[in-house]
Amino acid sequence: MHMFCFQCQETSDQRGCTFGGHCGKSEETANYQDLLIYSLKGVGVVADRILNEGQTISRELGELVFEALFVTVTNTNFDVERIIEIIDRLLCAKRVLLVELGRLGRTDCLSEVARWDDSTRQGYASKAYNVGVLQTQDVDVRALTETITYGLKGIAAYAHHAAILGSYRDSTTAFVVRCLATLTVETDLERLFDLALATGRENLAAMSLLDTIHAEYFGTPVPHPISIGVRNRPGILVTGHDLADLDGLLEQTRGTGIDVYTHSEMIAAHYYPKLFAHEHLAGNYGNAWWRQDHEFATFNGPIIVTSNCIIPVADAYRDRIFTTGVAGYPGVLHLSERLPSGAKDFSSVIELAKNCRPPTAIDEGTMPGGYNHAPLWTMAGQLLELVNKGALRRVVVMAGCDGRDRRREYYRDVALSLPKDTLILTAGCAKYVFCKLPLGTIEGVPRVLDAGQCNDCYSLIHFARQLAEHLDVDVNSLPISYQVCWYDQKAVAVYLSLLALGVRDIRLGPTLPAYFSPHLIERLQRDFGLRTIGNPKEDVALMMAGN
Ligand code: SF4
Repeated sequence: MHMFCFQCQETSDQRGCTFGGHCGKSEETANYQDLLIYSLKGVGVVADRILNEGQTISRELGELVFEALFVTVTNTNFDVERIIEIIDRLLCAKRVLLVELGRLGRTDCLSEVARWDDSTRQGYASKAYNVGVLQTQDVDVRALTETITYGLKGIAAYAHHAAILGSYRDSTTAFVVRCLATLTVETDLERLFDLALATGRENLAAMSLLDTIHAEYFGTPVPHPISIGVRNRPGILVTGHDLADLDGLLEQTRGTGIDVYTHSEMIAAHYYPKLFAHEHLAGNYGNAWWRQDHEFATFNGPIIVTSNCIIPVADAYRDRIFTTGVAGYPGVLHLSERLPSGAKDFSSVIELAKNCRPPTAIDEGTMPGGYNHAPLWTMAGQLLELVNKGALRRVVVMAGCDGRDRRREYYRDVALSLPKDTLILTAGCAKYVFCKLPLGTIEGVPRVLDAGQCNDCYSLIHFARQLAEHLDVDVNSLPISYQVCWYDQKAVAVYLSLLALGVRDIRLGPTLPAYFSPHLIERLQRDFGLRTIGNPKEDVALMMAGN
């Protein structure tokens, strides 16, 4: 075995990738990502001591911690050089913290905390092969430790996007570094379980922060039909989650004769007034991330990947794909230069687009979207009226990630099997399994209501809580069933948030995480009614019966 990774739903044989990842991650990348997490834990230990001294952690370090965690999310960054550069920065930051501890007179703990401080890159390679998840021998401790670590990756992703727009919470950084420190020593299962729920609570705060800053920057989402066809001008396709990048590109392509299209979860850009005001934001092209092989090829123009998910780059579009932000792929040009105004410089992409053919159509027509918690709450009266007159019996939340696993057909079958007096609330790329099906409307309300990206799962949670509060009932007594379709670590963070709020009977699929131990599964079944997916028709019958 040269690597071990089991952090995503596609892990090999539902056990772990050991000789290269299904995602395309090389053994070298996997091991350096392990080293990155190990280095982060070292920073966490020292930062925790700093916090215990009543000091604060700088925003610069907080943002570095978020970035470092985010680059290890599945399908975010395959570039070993970038990962090594971040390890360098982490070790450098740790040394600064150690000096600070020394200045505070806490020299007693210096040798204890200097666990991994080999600043020479020669030491990296040998270390990288020996610091992975299998170093934790106890399977139950490992299950919880990794669940929490993956939850932290989700928090970091959302906090990173918020920080780009200027929104940052010291308390999130404090939680993350303290948590990283705790994971180096804690083996008590009860305390780890509590920490997993605390991670879910903190993730809710991170998603809320991002939700607020998105609305402040780009306006409150407005439901409307989004074009899924193409125009006859050259285009640039933007994928990932970074709305700030899309905003910058829209400004720089204004009046150039180039259209801008969104892909996968970037579809959420169309929901925000400041962004959809651009006439050349032409539509959403394609489907979920894993189909990019075909869809990037037929797009014909440049593609910008702003965060996860990038898959191994195919020759058909190798010379016109770019990464930016946390995304990275060896041999792919990374956009990081800035204009004098401070905006990211997309001029090379724009120049390339001018000589490209317009996109080849995949779909035509429109699909509805924009149902974030604000418009959903505006519709609450209408929805309750539908419930009262028997036109709406149940709401099914089916949200999270899409992926290649054929068992995900389940979600399509569930959508098709649900009675016509049900609504589906969704967010993330899971929607692409069913959002283009002709599921109709209930008295004008589309039966699939999309809130946006995976971070917009916050909207679905927020709406359910608002409704429960308004009706003065427990959130579990609402006629809502939950299906969390997971693939990567952000979805796991969302799952932990739901658990932290006490939401029960969630169906987690298409498979349970390989890192869940039998003991953890038993605990989740007992305390939270954890369910797996089964036969779609039988599950629909159960959900309609409130199970
Ligand atoms: Fe395997 Fe998933 Fe890890 Fe990639 S991220 S190596 S597919 S478990």
